[in-house]
Amino acid sequence: MSQDRIDNTPSQHAGSDDSAIPPVEAIPLRFHALLDRVHEAETRAGRPQGSVTVELAAKFQAPERVLASLNAGATLLGHNIIQQLSASEEALKAMNAPAHRVHVIGHVQKNKAQHALRYAQCIETVDDEALAARLDRLQAARIERGEAEPGSTFDVMIQVNSSGAQSQFGIDPSLVQHLAQSIAQLDHLHLIGLMTIGAHTTDESDIRRSFATTRSLRDSLIDAGFADCTQLSMGMTHDMDLAIEEGSTIIRVGTAVFGPRPTPAQ
Ligand SMILES: *Cc1c(COP(=O)(O)O)cnc(C)c1O
Repeated sequence: MSQDRIDNTPSQHAGSDDSAIPPVEAIPLRFHALLDRVHEAETRAGRPQGSVTVELAAKFQAPERVLASLNAGATLLGHNIIQQLSASEEALKAMNAPAHRVHVIGHVQKNKAQHALRYAQCIETVDDEALAARLDRLQAARIERGEAEPGSTFDVMIQVNSSGAQSQFGIDPSLVQHLAQSIAQLDHLHLIGLMTIGAHTTDESDIRRSFATTRSLRDSLIDAGFADCTQLSMGMTHDMDLAIEEGSTIIRVGTAVFGPRPTPAQ
């Protein structure tokens, strides 16, 4: 099993631009440059400014670098690996970091689900009924222990395997509606949208097709009565412009702000 398969990390594209890791001082400027790029893409797509939320993919980033992005105005972080999520959030708390939200964007292993609920506000990667049922039970237990408000729900998104690649997590598009119905039966989960990783190819039309597939699934869910299933988490550094054109409401971006990731020690 490769690292990719374990943490949901999309494969790196060859020829990604700069190879040096930018210093922490460069992060605010890079964050603002990203916002400019997002606004340009929104305008090109005929969408109002602010229709796309930037979620910074924080995997393998030192807390100081994440803090710099929060101080520059970032409000939403994404974590792939639950152990990094909890360590990073504890470190940020100790540094009095500005308030922010965190989504889980990596595959959630059974034994890590509890920590995911504790440190994040949304899990974007629900892709089967067993995981949904587990999250529902864990949220019920949190309410019972007084760690969550009585009657509160935990936000989830369904990860769609929109490209059909064997190496990708996510549920087959044909099974999305059924999973959404199962989630709707659970008292403690709240389905807010769909997440996907664009096709891993340099062929723009294939990438676009995987985003368009996810968008039309989202639209059919809304038509079927899942009124709160509005979010579309799609687009990363190399394909965010296409994703925004195809209706993304959340882009998950790491490299454009933090630079190339330090290679994980294995
Ligand atoms: C790392 C990661 C991203 C961000 O990728 P970049 O190419 O660095 O922008 C987005 N989504 C997921 C699921 C990731 O693991």
